[in-house]
Amino acid sequence: MIREKWSKKFEKCRQCGTERYEHVARGLCTRCYRLVRKLEQVKTWKPSDPEPKRRYGFYDLEEFKAKKRDLEGEIKERLEFLKIKEETLKGPIYGIDIEGQLRRVAELCRVRNKGLFHGMANEIQHCFGQKQRKMLYELLNAIEEGIWWGGNHLG
Ligand SMILES: [Zn+2]
Repeated sequence: MIREKWSKKFEKCRQCGTERYEHVARGLCTRCYRLVRKLEQVKTWKPSDPEPKRRYGFYDLEEFKAKKRDLEGEIKERLEFLKIKEETLKGPIYGIDIEGQLRRVAELCRVRNKGLFHGMANEIQHCFGQKQRKMLYELLNAIEEGIWWGGNHLG
């Protein structure tokens, strides 16, 4: 069977490497396209622009620069995170991956105890085989991906 290509020119998202999300444009998936576009917009911001001023409210040039820098950094970090996540999903899953995933889900659920799953990696590694770890990771990842990411400044 011939598998349909992800897009005419690309085998997978050129930013994060996913084939799980659809192609939008420029070799980017739905998630990356939104972020890359936002990053491009933020980069062209000028202190006199009404939109960023209205949305993020700053009073002087220093504050404007700081806001712009924060937002750019946050988007870049998110793009990097998606890339690493996609690589992790393709490879073998270890106890440490599950521990990290449990922590992120707990954080999204606003669990107060930040150390709830601290040090669980070894136990998970020994209790579950490779197949089970992979399935568990994918299930937990589905929860994380089911929640809209807005970023701290991207409301
Ligand atoms: Zn992507």
